[in-house]
Amino acid sequence: MSEIRQRLNDLNPRQREAVKYIDGPCLVLAGAGSGKTSVITTKIAYLVHECGMSARRIAAVTFTNKAAREMKERVQAMLPGRSGHGLTVSTFHTLGLNIIRSELNTLGLRPGFSLFDPEDARALLRDLMQKDAQIDADQIQRVQSRISSWKNDLVLPGAALSHAESEDDAYSARIYEHYVRHLKAYNAVDFDDLIMLPATMFERHPEVLQRWRGRIHYMLVDEYQDTNSSQYQLVRMLMAERATFTVVGDDDQSIYAWRGARPENLVQLGEDFPSLNVIKLEQNYRSTSVILRAANTLISNNPHVYEKTLWSDRGRGEAIRIIVNRNEEAETERVATEILTRRIKESASWRDFAVLYRGNFQARLLELKLQHHQIPYKLSGGTSFFSRNEIKDAMAYLRLLINPADDNAFLRIVNVPRREIGPGTLEKLANYAQERRVSLFAACSEMGLAHILTERAVERLGRFNHFIEGVRRRMDQGDAIAAIRAMFTEMDYEQWLYQNASAPVIAEKRMGNVWTLIDQLEKSLGRNSEEGDEVSEETDDVEAAISRLVLRDILDQQAQEDDTDRVQLLTLHASKGLEFPHVYVMGMEEELLPHRNAIELDTIEEERRLAYVGITRARQTLTLTLTHQRKQYGELMNCTPSRFLDELPEEDLEWFGRADKEDPEKKHERGREAIAGLRSLLG
Ligand code: ATP
Ligand code: MG
Repeated sequence: MSEIRQRLNDLNPRQREAVKYIDGPCLVLAGAGSGKTSVITTKIAYLVHECGMSARRIAAVTFTNKAAREMKERVQAMLPGRSGHGLTVSTFHTLGLNIIRSELNTLGLRPGFSLFDPEDARALLRDLMQKDAQIDADQIQRVQSRISSWKNDLVLPGAALSHAESEDDAYSARIYEHYVRHLKAYNAVDFDDLIMLPATMFERHPEVLQRWRGRIHYMLVDEYQDTNSSQYQLVRMLMAERATFTVVGDDDQSIYAWRGARPENLVQLGEDFPSLNVIKLEQNYRSTSVILRAANTLISNNPHVYEKTLWSDRGRGEAIRIIVNRNEEAETERVATEILTRRIKESASWRDFAVLYRGNFQARLLELKLQHHQIPYKLSGGTSFFSRNEIKDAMAYLRLLINPADDNAFLRIVNVPRREIGPGTLEKLANYAQERRVSLFAACSEMGLAHILTERAVERLGRFNHFIEGVRRRMDQGDAIAAIRAMFTEMDYEQWLYQNASAPVIAEKRMGNVWTLIDQLEKSLGRNSEEGDEVSEETDDVEAAISRLVLRDILDQQAQEDDTDRVQLLTLHASKGLEFPHVYVMGMEEELLPHRNAIELDTIEEERRLAYVGITRARQTLTLTLTHQRKQYGELMNCTPSRFLDELPEEDLEWFGRADKEDPEKKHERGREAIAGLRSLLG
């Protein structure tokens, strides 16, 4: 029997129905671990192998690059030979980037456009806002998120301004307008544009949309509950009346409202596509019934649009362990020793363990403890490869090479390594460039500079311009990667690293990182030409490879993926979709989970979903830890156990160190007293 037939046989009847239903729109709405992602991977293989659809005509979208890679591997394993060739499995943003790359003309972009990461965007906003008044980082942040939410809702600057409801909003809308104009002048797009530009283009240019509809015949979307409006519009437009798509999701796992995700999209889908076939899955194949019951009980405290019931036949399993610790030090030490002993007791691998937490800062102490006990671990998020200074420099060089109009990239590296081009010179250069409406890089070679700068300054800027132009020429003429490598050698970047590092080994390591980056760039060139991806229409040039790198830099904090045997450290957000035999969730305390901001803003339901996501990652055992005291926001704080602990079924819990835990009755009493006290204060 073929691999795919075997897979179909292993599915339960409802899952099989979801896989085989291809005549219309299909929504699989089901709780954690019920096989939604499995339905997607099997369905892709089914479409290709059993329905004869070309893999090139299928686009699958998921939430992270890691998930996309995993999904692609699983599908390839089910498909014989090269029949999976050309399949697109990507994030929404990569799909958007691919569309933009092949529609530059329509979008009014030039080849080699830059992708601004949030930091670049902030720098541009600071520039634009500083013209009006002295502004602080918080204000910039506010305007940036306002613009981002407009873009996610496909609201253009004009509409934003005319619908502004407050002076603040109107101000943001005006900045938004400038911001869009400047991005265009820089030949740049930002992160939100990756979805917004294709979506608005499709609205305005039906003929382009038609072409893309011809290319993508079937779409599948995982983690649908976390799509925002613009992403939904993109899917809706691409699929149109044909409505050949399958989306899977779980409203209880919607954890990105703060980034514009709209769980209402689930309801919207039914309204937009009345023939939508909604399939519910009820069997959980992941967790023991104790873990599942805890998850179900917890989430039943949230109001529900769709009622779901989940059951499991994986046995009762161990009780959920709740460990109360003196402080963070004791908590992280306890997690480390727990992992050590459990690994031996169950002869488990390191990779069978995951430690989840609300904020990255919680990982620092844990890392030290794990190192101390020589436990290999992998930290996702946190300080990624791409946030290293040398990599940011190298990326800025790459960006400038493919788009000399990228002023942010120019400013980052014009004096790295030192070229004795001082801030005074740069300021004059910037004024000059602005008057002449050219980029900083282009201004470097203009005659007019002689009137405003010293001869030496003009010469240094000219030399830099000449150097970069030389590299660009060599890239065009032949081996682009060799030209890039030669550039780093010629400018003696390594020497510069040595001068700036506290120890030679550090400089060596940093230089090694730069070479690794270029190796990766080279590899990605080779790989892409091999795949010949048609749906994405990616041309196999170095420009395309660099912009993919830049995108990955932004999207993927987990650059150094490896599948070796390590304990996984993840934020709760990053754990979505994954599963592990043994899961530890740290910091089950008020102000941490639920987060302080959520308590203030009264968005507890989203925090509860986050806790639900964490709990449902566990297959066999679940351990929750908390502390009496924790250093947070720079002070030592006394901690209160998370309200979510009170919402778990007491009979399935096993407490450790509870003697010091406050009696729940007393806590409520104190709560009542506090409320009474407040009332009397308020009169
Ligand atoms: P989440 O909501 O967390 O993303 P999910 O609904 O996507 O979960 P999957 O990750 O697809 O669930 O599946 C959970 C686990 O159950 C996986 O290990 C998967 O291999 C297994 N599984 C799914 N369907 C079946 C089945 N019919 N028989 C046996 N195992 C299954
Ligand atoms: Mg999944």
